[in-house]
Formats: sequence, structure tokens, C-alpha cells
Amino acid sequence: MASREKKKKGKLRLNPNGDIITLENVSKSYATGAPALNGIDLRIKKGEFVFIIGDSGSGKSTMIKLLLRELVASEGKIMVMGEDLTRLRHRKVPKYRRNLGIVFQDFRLLKDRNVYENVAFAQRIIQVPTKEIKRNVPSVLSVVGLAGKYKARPRQLSGGEQQRVAIARALVNRPAILLADEPTGNLDPDTTWDIMKLLESINENGTTILMVTHNREIVDAMKKRVITMKKGVIVSDEERGGYNNED
Ligand code: ADP
Ligand code: MG
Repeated sequence: MASREKKKKGKLRLNPNGDIITLENVSKSYATGAPALNGIDLRIKKGEFVFIIGDSGSGKSTMIKLLLRELVASEGKIMVMGEDLTRLRHRKVPKYRRNLGIVFQDFRLLKDRNVYENVAFAQRIIQVPTKEIKRNVPSVLSVVGLAGKYKARPRQLSGGEQQRVAIARALVNRPAILLADEPTGNLDPDTTWDIMKLLESINENGTTILMVTHNREIVDAMKKRVITMKKGVIVSDEERGGYNNED
């Protein structure tokens, strides 16, 4: 990061309890059906890499959406980097979201824009000066190993490359937290490992990562914290865990 930018950003804000993410007794109900989340307590420290696993419908994506402030909790309290999301005003949501990068299973790139533009777009939205964009985009594209492909359109790229573009876009604004909802769900095993190595190195550089996945092999191999959800509750939370600890 350029030193000027670092100064501007200042010190990373944490919650009063020293965590980067805190959920206290959080529930979320949709208009119909049983609560998608039911009394979730969770504390995540700055710099952690956390897998969230669990059956389809167990509430994983709902948790991600609450953290993105796409949804508001029905009950309980969510604090992220010193912001109480249950009290956060609508007009403050875009600024809050600058703390977060998000990656989805289906990449969600702009199909009619090239790689450079897909990444630059995230900076234009927050009005980063063009001069800085021209410096930041190539730099983040080289982090994800795509410096040579900046002119390509998404359809000219493999799935793994498209996900790298999405990761570059998620990272270009230097978020403290990266949220990933099944980011390897559409990728073959080799590409999955490449993406996992990339995410691990991003985490080693200080970014807190929460990743939802169904991939047993990577969860078991990576020996990170594993949170298992079932029907809207956390049924296990293990340091250096895996699917094997599930039962
Ligand atoms: P997961 O990501 O673990 O598969 P979700 O968080 O997507 O689970 O869903 C949790 C529960 O909430 C499921 O029962 C799902 O059907 C329900 N749900 C999710 N989104 C909505 C919605 N927009 N409206 C109503 N119910 C929903
Ligand atoms: Mg989901």
C-alpha cells in the first residue's frame, strides 16, 4: 500500500471487546418459515481465517448477508470494526461496506467490461482518483496472478481466472475483512487449490477471512477454525477443525 493511503486510512478499528466481528444472540427470521439464524454468538479476531460449514439451508448465507448489512438482524447485536450494525444508519452503509470485500460462487463480474474495468469499478464507486486507480489495479491484479490479462473480457477467462478477478475486485479497496460465500463452488479441484493458496496468502498478509464452503477436502487439509451450522445455530466451533470433528 502506498504510504499516503496508509496514513489516510489510519488505525484499524476494532470492537470494544477487541474483536473484529462480534455477534451476540443474533437471530434472523424471514417472512416465512423457521428462523434462518437462531441465537448466534460468535467472536472473530482480527487476522483469523474461519470456515463456515453446514448443510444447505443452515443459515450460512444469511450470516454473510447480515455482515454485509444487506439484511438486518431480527434480534441481537452485531458489531463489526466498532460499528453496531443494528444501529447503523442507511446512509452510512456504503462507507461501512468499504471495510469488506465479498466473493461469490458465481463470480458476478461485469460481462461487457474487461478485467481492468471490473476491478477499477470498485474504486470508481468510492471515488478514488483515476491516478490512484491506475496504480492500484495493476498492483492488485499482480497479487492474484493476472497482471497480463487486464484487457481480457470475463468470457475469455477460465473459471479460476474469473474468480481471481473477483478476488482482485474484492481486495482493491483494501478491506480488513474478506467474506467468501462458496468461492470455489464452481471450480475444479486443482483450481480450487490455487484459489485456496491465494486466499491463505491474503490472510497471511493480515486480512480476516470468513469463507462458507461445502468442500470437505480443503476444510480438513487447511486446519483453520471451523464453525459448523445446523438449522440456524452453531453446533460446533473448533480451532484447527475439520469435517471429521462434526460428529
Ligand atoms: P445456507 O446458505 O446455509 O444454505 P441460507 O442462509 O441461504 O442457508 O438460508 C437459511 C434458511 O433461510 C433456509 O431455510 C432458507 O430457505 C431461508 N431463506 C433464505 N433466504 C430467504 C428469503 N429471502 N426469504 C425466505 N426465506 C429465506
Ligand atoms: Mg448459502
